[in-house]
Amino acid sequence: PTPFDALTPQPADVLLSLIALYRDDPRPKKLDLGVGVYRDDTGATPVMRAVKAAEGRLLETQGSKSYLGPEGDIRYTELLQPIVFGKTMPADTMVGVQTPGGTGALRLAAELVNAAQKNAKRPGAKVWLGTPTWPNHAPIMTSAGLTVATYRYYDQATQTILFDEMMSALKGADAGDVVLLHGCCHNPVGADLDQAQWRAVAEVVAERGLIPLIDLAYQGLGDGLEEDAAGARLVLDAAPDALVAYSCDKNFGLYRERVGALYAKGGTPARTALMRSNILLLARVNWSMPPDHGGALVRVILDDAGLTAEWRAELDAMRTRINQVRQALAAGDAWLAPLGCQRGMFSLLPLSPEQVGLLRRDHAVYMVGNGRANLAGLTLATVPQFIDALRAVR
Ligand code: PMP
Repeated sequence: PTPFDALTPQPADVLLSLIALYRDDPRPKKLDLGVGVYRDDTGATPVMRAVKAAEGRLLETQGSKSYLGPEGDIRYTELLQPIVFGKTMPADTMVGVQTPGGTGALRLAAELVNAAQKNAKRPGAKVWLGTPTWPNHAPIMTSAGLTVATYRYYDQATQTILFDEMMSALKGADAGDVVLLHGCCHNPVGADLDQAQWRAVAEVVAERGLIPLIDLAYQGLGDGLEEDAAGARLVLDAAPDALVAYSCDKNFGLYRERVGALYAKGGTPARTALMRSNILLLARVNWSMPPDHGGALVRVILDDAGLTAEWRAELDAMRTRINQVRQALAAGDAWLAPLGCQRGMFSLLPLSPEQVGLLRRDHAVYMVGNGRANLAGLTLATVPQFIDALRAVR
């Protein structure tokens, strides 16, 4: 035997097996509400026009593929900053680095926190997650050495945010604990805090000395670029130290190019400098430097007023389409009314795994077993078919 014989088998990715089942289903009216990518009303996940144009320009103008540094494309993180924060942040208290996707940003954030907590002799400091959450959150945090603590964020059966439970968890958190918050378009539940709730969270974060880690992976797909960041900005303003794990993979449609950024705000220039040098070291030992292409495309777009306007218009159209589907679902069945107030691609429907299985077997509707539906898999034309299928299994 070798050490590898001691490995324990790991479960396969449920989404990948769902893709294969969907692909092999011969029924013509099948619906794919599984994989978390945007789809237009033909069911395609196209390359955005602004991205295509930027790729053309890059092809013509890029003169070298020599190495950049561990921070990636610096101009990319600079141009993205006002979109995230609403302004350019003071350079001496803000670090921005390009990362391989939002996933890479989360991993880097977790490792930075872990390094800090270890040196501060606070091993076991917690990162607070509201449940349910993106299934990768807890494993990313624990593999970076952090301890995860959870509170209930959302009740699937009644489709409501459990704000009181969230607040009492945060009020019981220790100074220096991290609180991970979905900036907008919550995955998987679709239900976001309102402005009053964000204000209340910002107050607790400031009072208790918590470190917010904002996961912003869907900016622009909820109510608009500015609107979708408004709540997170309240929390970021209230906390001296804060982290943002950003993804351009959804709002620029760049998924496989792996385009993200980690922004770290430090309360003092000295602390920020420490954060910067540690972030650069951690990036270096993880991936040396991020893949360039996707970040370069975002940079080309945001550096050009025309391309930026085109990107914003395309993003507006994506958001409008998702919200039209949401409104049609909410109007089509009282049971689906909460979906009208939710935002982003996902909702977590109160369905059992058995009901999800019946949807697939009897109605060719493909969803993840926990009841998460990617509403971008629907069109105004297929909403009635989906509602009928739901009625049949409920
Ligand atoms: N956070 C959340 C909440 C997500 O849903 C996702 C993607 N599914 C990510 C982060 C990571 O995005 P990326 O593909 O850019 O790594």
